Amino acid sequence: MIHDLQVGFRHNTGANRPGIWIDTGIHAREWVTPPHPYICAFFFDIFLEIVTNPDGFHFTHTSNRMWRKTRKPNDGSICVGVDANRNWDAGFSGAGSSNNPCSETYRGPSAHSEPEVKAIVDFVKSHGNLKAFVSIHSYSQMLLYPYGYTRTPCKDQAELVRPKAVTDLKSLYGTNYKYGSIINVIYQASGGTIDWTYNQGIKYSYTFELRDTGRYGFMLPANQIIPTAEETWLALMAIMEHTKNNPY
Ligand SMILES: [Zn+2]
Repeated sequence: MIHDLQVGFRHNTGANRPGIWIDTGIHAREWVTPPHPYICAFFFDIFLEIVTNPDGFHFTHTSNRMWRKTRKPNDGSICVGVDANRNWDAGFSGAGSSNNPCSETYRGPSAHSEPEVKAIVDFVKSHGNLKAFVSIHSYSQMLLYPYGYTRTPCKDQAELVRPKAVTDLKSLYGTNYKYGSIINVIYQASGGTIDWTYNQGIKYSYTFELRDTGRYGFMLPANQIIPTAEETWLALMAIMEHTKNNPY
């Protein structure tokens, strides 16, 4: 069972209020992502999924700190788990994902085959009024918008390309972020979360890659957790402000 936490007010009459989704921890080893104390102004209902991949997260505590995937056994393979950020129905099975169950980027047998993904898909569709969707990863210090599966620029690129979120983030501790589309800033990756949410009509779909750039990587020292949350909060505020001021 996967729960999400809603901050704000729920109106039980008529359509859902505009909402913002934030998830962390879809990749198990990215421990810096869940501790973010996101609370905020109530322009929107805010839905937080703190540990999107709970089985994998647990496994990083008990067995393998560097585990990334889910923990579901794969038929016909001794290798376990799917990369839940390659399992979405957006360029599914394209370049930048693997059909090998032993790969770190194994996409799974079909789009939305993984319960961790299907739960979010069902939520997004049933809510129907999410205006922003933020998926938080580590590490690399990047803020990314669609697409990952294609070089074709997304139709809102001219608007999304404005980097206020990363300049606000940098203003606190000087942390530099790269900013751009997934395929241009990192590499081609197919079946990713925010490409799917963008194609569902959620214009403000972003992925964060938090600190650092590799010195400590996934083993980020504990004394960087709070500063990371503080600076990331400024970027989230910029995204929420922009979403509020540019209704669509
Ligand atoms: Zn990740």
